[in-house]
Amino acid sequence: MTTGRPFSSPIDLLKKVTSSRRPEDAIRRLVTDLRSRVQACKGPVKGVKYPPYDPRPFAELLGATEIRGADLDVAGRIVVNEADVVIEFNRESTASYRRRFTLAHEVGHLALWEAEKKLVPDSKPRRARSQAVERLCDAVAAELLAPHAEIRSNWRAVCKRPLSGRIGPDPLKMIEDIAKEFGVSLQMAAIRFVEVCSPQMGVGLLDIRKECFVWCHRVPDRASLLALLLRRHKEGVAGNLKDTGGLFSGADSYALTNTEVDSVPAEWRSMGFDPALCLVVVKPRTFSSARRRRRRALAF
Ligand SMILES: [Zn+2]
Repeated sequence: MTTGRPFSSPIDLLKKVTSSRRPEDAIRRLVTDLRSRVQACKGPVKGVKYPPYDPRPFAELLGATEIRGADLDVAGRIVVNEADVVIEFNRESTASYRRRFTLAHEVGHLALWEAEKKLVPDSKPRRARSQAVERLCDAVAAELLAPHAEIRSNWRAVCKRPLSGRIGPDPLKMIEDIAKEFGVSLQMAAIRFVEVCSPQMGVGLLDIRKECFVWCHRVPDRASLLALLLRRHKEGVAGNLKDTGGLFSGADSYALTNTEVDSVPAEWRSMGFDPALCLVVVKPRTFSSARRRRRRALAF
């Protein structure tokens, strides 16, 4: 079916207006361009040049006339009324990082509308929001709040620092630092860390009270990992760690139940703000020596 538009999808639109070949380059260029335009017209205002970044000046640059809380059954929306472009966010969402992400996501919609106008000057803002558009606006929000280049350079600096008592740099601390510095949720910081710094890693947040993961991202065989963590936690409690506040930490490998030969190294640590929550990173899997020998035999 032809759409009559000179682009085939929202990401194709962004690639065209930013002259990019890869989707991730298109998103980064779009946000870099917005950032320099906001800096040019607002000057060095808070939240524009240094993190934590504030989506409001970006929304204003793109034509938002008002940003307000409202009773909504969604996180946020844009209401267009003749010349007024109003961003509404759910007033019940009180966590500042959640509200900032909602606003940054709506900035993504405004930026897409602006991009579409460049290719189709008489186009009107469309209400229909496909899943592809929503995913793209989430990616724009992530880049706006926690830019790829800054996270990568922070991680490179961490990797260059001398290590005390560790084999490698500490991904758990890096995730906590991203959340603090950029004012984003721990989940977003963890996903951003994996995407930017270590695409082979998995991350998850365990709730020791509820004995389940609050969220998980790219963790293979999470049931097996959960069993290991709960076992290690119970051993710690039985071993007279009556108050496990901040003490539940460790590193081990867990076996994948479907193969029983591969093992996946994991590292975990309780969170300072709530010791019942435990952040876990899963490193690229290693192969058992038997399997490694088999692989080597096959290679020759
Ligand atoms: Zn949306």
